[in-house]
Amino acid sequence: MFKDPVCGMEVENERLSFEFEGRRYFFCSRGCLEKFRNSPKESLGKYIYDLLIIGAGPAGLTASIYASVLKIDTFLLTQDFGGQAVDSAGIKNYMGFDFISGKELVNKFEQQFLREHYLAHRIDEAIGIKRQGEFFEIQAKETRKMLARALIIATGMKRRALGIPGEERLLRRGVFYNLVQDAALFKGADVVVAGGGNSGVQVSIELKNLGCRVWLISKGKLIADAGDIERLKSSGKVDILEGFEVVEIRGEDKVECAVIQAADASVTKEIPCKGVFIEVGFLPNTEFCRDLVGLNEKGEIKIKPDCSTGAEGIFACGDVTDCFGKRIIIASGEGAKAALSAKKYLLSRKK
Ligand SMILES: Cc1cc2nc3c(=O)[nH]c(=O)nc-3n(C[C@H](O)[C@H](O)[C@H](O)COP(=O)(O)OP(=O)(O)OC[C@H]3O[C@@H](n4cnc5c(N)ncnc54)[C@H](O)[C@@H]3O)c2cc1C
Repeated sequence: MFKDPVCGMEVENERLSFEFEGRRYFFCSRGCLEKFRNSPKESLGKYIYDLLIIGAGPAGLTASIYASVLKIDTFLLTQDFGGQAVDSAGIKNYMGFDFISGKELVNKFEQQFLREHYLAHRIDEAIGIKRQGEFFEIQAKETRKMLARALIIATGMKRRALGIPGEERLLRRGVFYNLVQDAALFKGADVVVAGGGNSGVQVSIELKNLGCRVWLISKGKLIADAGDIERLKSSGKVDILEGFEVVEIRGEDKVECAVIQAADASVTKEIPCKGVFIEVGFLPNTEFCRDLVGLNEKGEIKIKPDCSTGAEGIFACGDVTDCFGKRIIIASGEGAKAALSAKKYLLSRKK
């Protein structure tokens, strides 16, 4: 694995490379290679753009492809390519594919972006935005500050943590927030799943299918789809403990047990287990922009039908917004809409 010196993306193959001062560099795309060839010592070069898109999940990638087709001078800043969709084991509701894994679909999005609709981009985290006259100034963790006349925020959601002792220390050492990559490690093991929504019940079914003994811990009554609850119950013995919470995860250097407690604190139990899967919902990624745009009570960015927000020049799309339906196809559609609206806004400013 190599790191593209221009955008910071991890490059898996050696297809695109260039030698400079005795060292060979590898690139994610022809666009980044050309940039480096023209100016090897200043990888980012330009830092003022008409439009800056933050996030490259389905919403941000679609907005980027539209921005490229609409010939908007655009920069894409993102922590990764693909977003949450990468975690989906199988997608059955995306047009054009009867069935496709999240990884495969995202790979197709990424290749379409890099090969056909290249835009300058950088792997980094946006940590702040402020207004500077007619521009927005975007602060990222590692890249220098950038200026843009308009913004599209497409930062999606991240998994909610329980915030309990042992959770962070034992992360990926038995504590997981999703199953896809690590499922095989738990074949036949005793495991605890925290969360009685759709994700918690679906993960419990998958773990049952791996021959695990599953304890499903839910703060209240299970709220997953009735069909999934039925499938779980018919998949063999599952201990479903409603009205309980996981309050601690114990283990030296890997998970050894979960401590659960009744909602009224009347009962506390230890469950010896090898894995704890935390599936207690999602939080919108809005920390860096919450002072500029209006949020609803769930922390989602409030948008109008054209994806504009409470702040002139800032557009938002996908799961980070209050738009109904957290789905790939909806996030993509909203991304397209946000780019069209940003174009209209930029044209109106030029007049
Ligand atoms: C396990 C799982 C299975 C799913 N299965 C399906 C399914 O089968 N069908 C379906 O339609 N939907 C499914 N979904 C939902 C779907 O994945 C989401 O609705 C969709 O990914 C939302 O896209 P998005 O672009 O809005 O956000 P995200 O996919 O969350 O992407 C956000 C992007 O923003 C970036 N980012 C975040 N914060 C910052 C920051 N501060 N600075 C820079 N970049 C940042 C992230 O790195 C990421 O690239 C599933 C979700 C999960 C978790």
